[in-house]
Amino acid sequence: MFIPYAKHYIDQDDIDAVVKALQADHIAAGPGMEEFEKDFAEYVGAKYAVALSSGTAALHACCYAVQIQGGDEVITTPMTFVSTASSILFCKGTAVFADIDGKTYNIDPADIERKISSNTKAVIPVHYTGQPCEMERIFEIAKKYGLYVIEDAAHAHGAEYNGSRIGSCRYSDLTAFSFHPSKIMTTCEGGMVTTNSEELYQRIRMFRAYCSTREPKLLTDKEEGPWHYEVQGLGYNYRLSDVMCALGKSQLKKLDSFVAYRRKIAQRYDQQLQDLKNIILPYQAAGCNSSWHLYVIRVEHGHRREIYTKMREKNIGVDVHYLPAYKHPYFQENGYRNVCCPVAEALYDEVLSIPIYYGLTEGQQDYVVETLRELIKGNR
Ligand SMILES: *Cc1c(COP(=O)(O)O)cnc(C)c1O
Repeated sequence: MFIPYAKHYIDQDDIDAVVKALQADHIAAGPGMEEFEKDFAEYVGAKYAVALSSGTAALHACCYAVQIQGGDEVITTPMTFVSTASSILFCKGTAVFADIDGKTYNIDPADIERKISSNTKAVIPVHYTGQPCEMERIFEIAKKYGLYVIEDAAHAHGAEYNGSRIGSCRYSDLTAFSFHPSKIMTTCEGGMVTTNSEELYQRIRMFRAYCSTREPKLLTDKEEGPWHYEVQGLGYNYRLSDVMCALGKSQLKKLDSFVAYRRKIAQRYDQQLQDLKNIILPYQAAGCNSSWHLYVIRVEHGHRREIYTKMREKNIGVDVHYLPAYKHPYFQENGYRNVCCPVAEALYDEVLSIPIYYGLTEGQQDYVVETLRELIKGNR
């Protein structure tokens, strides 16, 4: 049986919730969406939450909300899924890549500060693998230079930093989540933005629904009639359906147990692999309680391809996260050819994500460990 690196978990309660949602009067975005938003905001400890059709849409909405436009620079990490950087480009901004820390693999606050210019408008730290970034320092830098902070928390549902849940926006303006099935909880496709700012909340709500409004106090033309709505910007349809929100609501109830299970797997990997001298295990910084979206090991330079191939041959779906975002052809061809983040590039050459998900059995984990140990010994 094939063991993937990530896998969703759906139980009968989820299925029942979806079936019930399909039988309701509203199946597109309606009351179910608001219920999911309310539950999610409460869970993370933020005032507001807005559900969107994907994590990418959530990040796009965040960049729109802080009014990124042509000429603006936004600092982010290259060690991420490409959407983090794309969201800046959607708004015609320029992505500026700060290098990562060699131990946590998260964006290095010192390099953020070095890369700030008079055009810098925001910073998007990514909680890579679910380990929170140094948010206190990042927030301090942002305040000093008047920048917005948008957290990409696609890996970090249920993660904690200094005792607060990621998403509480204690050290940021906005936080974006993804509910893709590879993530910690799922709505098939979907995303969420949380914030404590009413203004940003309203901007994102309009943006995800064509930038249209019926709100009497927002209408410019009050005389048209009671049917009147207005489109006041270039908006998209980025809503999440009530059916998917019902799944999200049901998944959210299990989030704590999902994360606890992942933490146990991570602990077990730590114990079972710690004696191997030629791999580097994930490092946990003080104040951080990771949600363990990924368990990323670092193997010796030059051996990654062989270990990857042989693990795959043994039906273990290891994967590589990530090619530095600016290395993708689209970025190379559009002005990012001279970008170089040496720490991120060196990491990319050596990383391997090994299976971690809710439901991975101890037997399966032992098989992953045995296979890996054998391959690594063979390389000595
Ligand atoms: C998955 C992911 C996204 C994009 O989310 P989608 O729901 O797939 O659009 C953005 N950033 C990071 C770090 C991700 O892992």
